[in-house]
Amino acid sequence: MKTDKTPQIIALYARVSSSNQEVEQTIQSQIDEIKSRIEADGNVLPKENIFIDDGWTGEMLQRPSLDLMRDGAKTGMFKVLYVYDRGRLSRIFFHQEIVLEELRDNDIEFISLHDVKAVTPEEQVLQSMQGVFHQYERIKIIERFRRGKLFKARQGIIINGDALYGYSYVKKTDKLPTLYQINEKEAEIVRKIFRWVGIEGLSIRGVIMRLYRMGVYPRKRRKDTWSKGPIVRMLKNRSYVDGIAFYNKSEAVVSKNPINKEKYKRVKRTSRRVRPTEDWIPFKIPKLIDESLFDKVQKILEDNKRYASKNRKYDYLLTGKTYCEHGFRRVGDGYSKGLNHYYRSAARIYEYPKETKCDCMGVNAVVLDGLFWNKLYAILIDPDLLKKLAERWFNERNDYSKSSEEGIDNLKKKIDNLKDEEVRYARMYGEGIVDSGQFEELMKGVKNKKRGYQGEMEEIRNKSNSSNTTKVSLDELCQEAERVIKLQDATDRKQIVRDLVEKIIIKKGGDEVITWIHIPLNQAHLMGYGAKRGDIHFSVPQFEFYFKVAIPKANKERLIMERDMMGRILSSKVPEVYNHYAEK
Ligand SMILES: [Zn+2]
Repeated sequence: MKTDKTPQIIALYARVSSSNQEVEQTIQSQIDEIKSRIEADGNVLPKENIFIDDGWTGEMLQRPSLDLMRDGAKTGMFKVLYVYDRGRLSRIFFHQEIVLEELRDNDIEFISLHDVKAVTPEEQVLQSMQGVFHQYERIKIIERFRRGKLFKARQGIIINGDALYGYSYVKKTDKLPTLYQINEKEAEIVRKIFRWVGIEGLSIRGVIMRLYRMGVYPRKRRKDTWSKGPIVRMLKNRSYVDGIAFYNKSEAVVSKNPINKEKYKRVKRTSRRVRPTEDWIPFKIPKLIDESLFDKVQKILEDNKRYASKNRKYDYLLTGKTYCEHGFRRVGDGYSKGLNHYYRSAARIYEYPKETKCDCMGVNAVVLDGLFWNKLYAILIDPDLLKKLAERWFNERNDYSKSSEEGIDNLKKKIDNLKDEEVRYARMYGEGIVDSGQFEELMKGVKNKKRGYQGEMEEIRNKSNSSNTTKVSLDELCQEAERVIKLQDATDRKQIVRDLVEKIIIKKGGDEVITWIHIPLNQAHLMGYGAKRGDIHFSVPQFEFYFKVAIPKANKERLIMERDMMGRILSSKVPEVYNHYAEK
């Protein structure tokens, strides 16, 4: 103890995880014990130097208060750090050492209430050894806890409170052991879902929609909508038909692809992994679903999977370029329905089953890809057609600079007129027709108008300044465009689309598609032709044009090859005419 020294500025760090409150000290008892020790040592603990991570795992080093403490150590906020034991810093030995080394580097004394005091190098080694034992002990505690649970499960006492959907977990009483009881409300939903899929032939999407409309939420109410995974898992779960559930079926693991990408995580193992079946411990539960319905559902799920795997293979030509007229992206989507591939509104796919602003129909991707490519290719290889488009574009641009000159003249005239107006009001004031308040109002109006006109003028000037109107002949322009086109590898259609297509807007009904093409004129600057107003996103001038593709009405164009008992399309074919892209 350092009672004979001047008081030191102290920091305190405390942590408990959420799951181990019973085996670890509670956070308050940690803090109390440290505080009385600090008092006994005659040191000072400022409020801002109390760092607490309550409910955070010690298996990871990223914790909000720990980070603040480490920052404080670097900036010299304190000279001594007190902790209950090394395990508070981290459960991982090497992590402990990282933090301790930082403290040593910043000349901060480390006081642990329940470890060996470490001043000399020998003591430090000893304390490190203790850190290793902390880790060992933790693993031992987890093991003991896990095996205790297994033992209970084998005795027929279920300890897992998370019952399967459709059941409730009933705690052991004096008369009855722990058991799974049917939860009537949930069980009815389970039966309904099985019937919808197995008897009505409703799709999983359809199930999600019905549940949403009925206001039936998943049990863990982070969302008010169900997703595909839990429903498919429910439909495949034999427990409902066999009346046997399993304890110890899965274990928590570190997520490989976490949905939640927050910087700090309270718990490390957020994903679950299925254990080998021999580790599962069976126990009896009431049955919910009969065998024949369950089998029907399995067959449908199998079929769906088969079609899905076939469908995924389609390579969407216009990926990343398609939008609907509401401005939402349209994405290639094609494993929910037969053998067809669609460009569908992303908003409608990802927000499903909620309604969105977008009510655009999907467009058959094979048909659109084929028609689109035919049209684009026809333009690119036809110099006359290209010249016609270039001419239109060329004239539009020159028209613009002409019209902007006219526009500026107009505005100048309007501003001149305002001067007359001012004079008129001044006269009215002088003659006593308006009082000073009215006069001020009128003048304010004039000022506002003037500001508006000047703003418009400014805008036009800015635009036409960036529009460089050096006269380059149309022929020169076309030559450059053709040169760029010839450089393209005609066999790599996707690359051409990536390079030349700006945007494709598929209209609501899906029958009309507008396409913007831009051809970068890489060497146009040599002809004195710079980037212009329309090329604002590009560093080189772009020759732009658009064309429309008319899409034939859906369904009529699909040759249906095979249907199942419920009338669902099992296979269909796009007529040869539209199959340009698909056949290659
Ligand atoms: Zn839309």
